[in-house]
Amino acid sequence: MRACVWTMRATRRAVPACLSAVLVAACAVSQQQEVDLGASTAAQVSAELPLIRDAAVVNYITALGAQLSQATDTRDLAWHFTVVDSKEVNAFALPGGWVYVNRGLIERASNMSELAGVMAHEIGHVTLRHSVDQMQQAQGADMGLVLLCTLTKVCEGGAGQAAIGIGGSALFAKFSRSDEAEADVEAVATTVKAGISPYGIPSMFRILLAERKTNPGALDAFFASHPLEEDRIEHTEAQIATYPASELQRLAKDSPAFQTFRRRLLAMPPSPAPKKAPAGTAQRPSTENGGSLQ
Ligand SMILES: [Zn+2]
Repeated sequence: MRACVWTMRATRRAVPACLSAVLVAACAVSQQQEVDLGASTAAQVSAELPLIRDAAVVNYITALGAQLSQATDTRDLAWHFTVVDSKEVNAFALPGGWVYVNRGLIERASNMSELAGVMAHEIGHVTLRHSVDQMQQAQGADMGLVLLCTLTKVCEGGAGQAAIGIGGSALFAKFSRSDEAEADVEAVATTVKAGISPYGIPSMFRILLAERKTNPGALDAFFASHPLEEDRIEHTEAQIATYPASELQRLAKDSPAFQTFRRRLLAMPPSPAPKKAPAGTAQRPSTENGGSLQ
């Protein structure tokens, strides 16, 4: 049923006929093609982003991700959850089930349910196939590089963008506001089904919005790739209020394992600060990626 949301969304957005044709064509993307697209981009991400390989970190993020994805995935995808060693606050999902969460976001979460909410939101982008939709619209873009810009600050400023040949409009891999709203709805349902309190979702939004006020610029990447306004807090809280209070009270808010995991990240050496463009990309023509993302 969800496989063809593009047709409806294309109609609703009244996009030009040519784009509608692309979106309708995207409906034909099979699950295998979706997984192949995610796998090839994940290989680029592994080559270009600093990923945390520490076994305890990998085990925790994988277990929490499995708890969430098993509660909602009806397509039996092979999910992969990874912590990116970046102090920037962000998270991202690739088609087919690859989810990345930056260390900077995890370190700002005060309890397990806040991280779980972000991960459930990213899982929602995959299960609703927003990620395939987005990458179909980004045809021709080097998504590995776009994600490098999205998840780190390597491309910050005109010089960085020029160095790796990414046009300004393709700097961030963006989801639309309607995609964000849909992923939030999924995230609330998924966390509840997984036995985790959905209050972590609006709680994490509050942390990020408060930091945007006190430390403008620090969260630019997150806000550019995931439009976040105060109304997302209201909408998620209204959805949560539809559940019986007795059910919500039974759900887990935190765990000793999360706090151990977070302390382990906080004790690690500072995240690397990528300053140079990836090898071999300096000659990339600037037109290759320009303007293809929303
Ligand atoms: Zn999102």
